[in-house]
Amino acid sequence: MDIKKLRVALDGPSGAGKSTVAKGVAAAAGLIYVDTGALYRTVGLYMADHGIDAYATDEIIAALDRVSIELAYENGTQIVRLCGEDVGGRIRTEQASYYASAVSKIPEVRAFLLKTQQDIAAQGGVIMDGRDIGTVIMPDAELKVFITATPEERARRRYKELTEKGQSVNYDDVLENIIARDKQDSERETAPLKPADDAIVFVNDGYDLDASIKVVLELMARRAKTR
Ligand code: C5P
Repeated sequence: MDIKKLRVALDGPSGAGKSTVAKGVAAAAGLIYVDTGALYRTVGLYMADHGIDAYATDEIIAALDRVSIELAYENGTQIVRLCGEDVGGRIRTEQASYYASAVSKIPEVRAFLLKTQQDIAAQGGVIMDGRDIGTVIMPDAELKVFITATPEERARRRYKELTEKGQSVNYDDVLENIIARDKQDSERETAPLKPADDAIVFVNDGYDLDASIKVVLELMARRAKTR
């Protein structure tokens, strides 16, 4: 099968470099990169914009009727529109992260975003990053990679990123946060973060970005040969 037609599911916790790896792989192999976290962020943003509390589950479910999300790809870049507005910039705030994490726990929100994701997957030639891509969104993807790194490695990367931005943080606090979030993500009832049974688990401690991209590209090349 042509490598450009593969459907690749890339799941894993935050801080493993998923989105950067997915972007690099998409550019190198000519696939569309689908960032599914952006969809949860966009639903969250709608709620924040309309003064709905992040944990007001019933209100959030009722508001979904009024949320219209469109995904488009322009020059290889994903554009997300919320009720017609390009919200690419506004979904990257701390508030949007907070809301995204809260709304993503609601089964109705996950169901609401399912079709948008599956419509894109159906076209083939995609690498999708998320938490439940291999388990729920594309259970029949040709390749599933669960990309992760030890909590210590992810904490080191995050610590470096934050200190480089000039923020004063404590490494132990960063590590503690990561461990707490892992526990929450893997134990939550709705779409818990876990590798699909047929996923390849890639622990990328000690791999830089280029090396991680190379690993995924090699797995794709092998998979394309046998399909
Ligand atoms: O990946 P990103 O940080 O943009 O994801 C934002 C939030 O959406 C995270 O809290 C994550 O748990 C949630 N999410 C999810 N399922 C996905 C993608 C993201 O629950 N497929």
